[in-house]
Amino acid sequence: MPTATPEFDAIVIGAGFSGIHMLKSLRDHLGLKVRVYEAGDTVGGTWYWNRYPGARCDSDAYIYCFTWDKQLLQEWEWTERYPEQPEILRYLEHVAARHDLKRDMVFKTRITGAEWDDKSHLWTVHTDKGDAVTARYVIAAVGTLSETNLPNIKGLENFKGQSCHTSRFPKEGIDFTGKRVAVVGTGATAVQAIPEIAQQAKQLTIFQRTANYCVPARNGKVDPELVRKRKADYDGIVQRIKDSFFGQEHYFIPKSALEVSAEERERDFDRMWDAGGFAFWLANYKDMFFTQEANDLCADYIKRKIRSTVKDPAIAEKLTPKGYAYGTKRQPLDTNYYETFNKENVLLVDAKADGPIEEITATGIRAGGKEYPQDIIVFATGFDAMTGPLKALHLKGRDGRTLDQVWAEGPRSYLGIAVAGFPNFFTITGPQSPSVLSNMPVSIEQHVDWISDCIDAMRKSEKTTIEAMPEAQDQWVAHVNEIVAATLMPGANSWYMSANIPGKPRAFLPYLGPEGVGGYRRKCEEVAAHNYEGFELA
Ligand code: NAP
Repeated sequence: MPTATPEFDAIVIGAGFSGIHMLKSLRDHLGLKVRVYEAGDTVGGTWYWNRYPGARCDSDAYIYCFTWDKQLLQEWEWTERYPEQPEILRYLEHVAARHDLKRDMVFKTRITGAEWDDKSHLWTVHTDKGDAVTARYVIAAVGTLSETNLPNIKGLENFKGQSCHTSRFPKEGIDFTGKRVAVVGTGATAVQAIPEIAQQAKQLTIFQRTANYCVPARNGKVDPELVRKRKADYDGIVQRIKDSFFGQEHYFIPKSALEVSAEERERDFDRMWDAGGFAFWLANYKDMFFTQEANDLCADYIKRKIRSTVKDPAIAEKLTPKGYAYGTKRQPLDTNYYETFNKENVLLVDAKADGPIEEITATGIRAGGKEYPQDIIVFATGFDAMTGPLKALHLKGRDGRTLDQVWAEGPRSYLGIAVAGFPNFFTITGPQSPSVLSNMPVSIEQHVDWISDCIDAMRKSEKTTIEAMPEAQDQWVAHVNEIVAATLMPGANSWYMSANIPGKPRAFLPYLGPEGVGGYRRKCEEVAAHNYEGFELA
């Protein structure tokens, strides 16, 4: 057995929701020596980096939080149904302070590489400060949407005005008052930002490549009586979201959209629409994700809403999604998004109707042969999702193989937690786990608990390595792909399908298990109960 003693039992990379909880669990429950590295200058992860106007969570806040701190569940008061970024950041700062976590966190430090040593059974982890530390375990808590996608548009470097990506928005903010502003992209981020920017800018021009299906968020103060009831029922809520399909209190209508009358369907659609949030997406008819005709009925309802909200029929037409099924891209939640296109100072440039972006010039954007002068360009162009942040760690596993090499044709993981050839390396909400198709804190907690229990079990049985077996991984990858193939998801050019990054192999990134996060949790528990079936422990 290797005798080398590492400097740390575990290195955790990232101090967002995942890293905070992972540190708490390993340090305070298992008594391990842990260090967290974080590129930002404080905790927060997503909520540290995404400071664009309108940034707020899209899940109801009462379940978008840690459930392991039961006292805090009672004490913390969210100001709105979907709090804004500063409030969520304040919450994470509060958790870090309350549990004295920062003393084991190193900020403003990026991991530049790590390699596995087969003799010592340790990882050596390198930082951009030139440090190298050894650890038994490396845990990626790097988030799923943290590797920025700034598209390689011709002339990008020539723009003389101010420009930024939404996930690198300046801390001091940007004053859009009296400015000509462009927003590139119309995903969930842009849908939050556009109505806010339109209120300030002299002229806002939105460059849309693909129209999205947006549903109302219906943000606002939550009725104090409902808050009280929820607090009294937190144990029940936590159990329900753990067992649920999406980590939310949303449940499919146990009927086909095609088997009910048009009147009943319209009543259901109205109810979900009025409820706001993810209800329309995640509590719709059970065949919405599977059957094109059922999906068309849902899509048609949203298209009618767009036409009745947007006054100019030509603009409404440009905003009407075409060519892909409803729900197969991440559901953006809107607050006055469609209404914003009725404003005099807002212009929509649609790639299909008006021509695609051709070039960024010194003074603006040229699209469809026309120049649109700008003072500021905001790129809401998304992320190299899920695999991007992991590849950016430049890990070298067994035989010096990198994730770039082993994922050359798309991600391959076992349960979205581990990768064959990378011993003692765990991914929190990694590719091929429910992750982004669930309420993230629920999936994060499940992975953190599983990884903690696994490390605990290894220590008790005096094992020093754990590694996914290639056969188990192959089976898992096949299972993930088989399940999604039965849905409408592969038909969309979404980031779920890796389609937003030129050259990225087309592969479904998360896991859409037949029983959702509840079934996936049970599968992970079974694996552990069968002595970590599919893993090799040594
Ligand atoms: P996104 O969904 O990937 O949207 C990026 C947008 O930029 C799309 O409209 C895309 O068009 C466009 N685009 C990309 N490259 C382009 C190019 N070269 N030229 C022109 N347009 C281009 O990114 P996002 O809006 O940042 O959202 C990413 C994810 O973050 C969401 O899906 C969600 O999971 C998460 N998010 C969460 C919250 C929350 O919970 N609070 C809020 C915002 C975002 P195409 O559609 O044609 O690719």
